[in-house]
Amino acid sequence: MKKTALKALVVAILSLSIFIGVEAPSEEALFASANDKYCKLKAPTDHLPERINELIAKTSLLYGCEKVKSLKKIEIYYDETLPRAMAGGRILKLRYDLETKPETEEVLIHEFAHIVDLGYFRGHSYSGKSEFRDGSVVIFNDDLSLEFYRISWQDSKKLKEDASEFDFVSGYAMSDVFEDFAESTLYYVKHNKEFRILAENNPILQKKYDFIKENIFDGKIFESGKNYVSLDERFYDATKIM
Ligand SMILES: [Zn+2]
Repeated sequence: MKKTALKALVVAILSLSIFIGVEAPSEEALFASANDKYCKLKAPTDHLPERINELIAKTSLLYGCEKVKSLKKIEIYYDETLPRAMAGGRILKLRYDLETKPETEEVLIHEFAHIVDLGYFRGHSYSGKSEFRDGSVVIFNDDLSLEFYRISWQDSKKLKEDASEFDFVSGYAMSDVFEDFAESTLYYVKHNKEFRILAENNPILQKKYDFIKENIFDGKIFESGKNYVSLDERFYDATKIM
């Protein structure tokens, strides 16, 4: 339901309850029950295409409302030289044609992993600066994501000396530590069975799998993906594995 329609419904119910003399429930309580299925995102979504809007609602629930509440703004852009989407802790930017892609859902799961990584798992300055940076933004020592970052990375861009391409779920995951986080999380959601097979054969991937399972999904395992995966091949882009 569109927000405007929902508002009209709430107003109608409130007026009706006053008219028939029962005690009116608070506006907040009505919104909460009507909106039970969706997270109340701080970022406005009225300007988004219907399909994107639905997938954002679904993806927010997948991670849990608490973990995506740092998202304040969603922008659409028209520059085709830029990637399909980009996200930080507070902002999600989507290319106008994302809704027409077969991998729209996968891209949003990937982008929301960045929101959880950079907006929800956050450290405090008093704990001191870590060796990782997101552009100019310092990652502090008590940021939970560091446990994941330090599995394969020396710093935000530099792999550990002994890192192998098979320690990653995709080629793109090797481009920097934040893409490793987002690609691995997407792979956990959409290819969990394959991730389990890879992890059984690679202790590094087992660590990544366990981190995502415990810290992002609170122990939840998905029955997604295939029962077979090649151990010595990786797709470049996990959003395109169908
Ligand atoms: Zn990304």
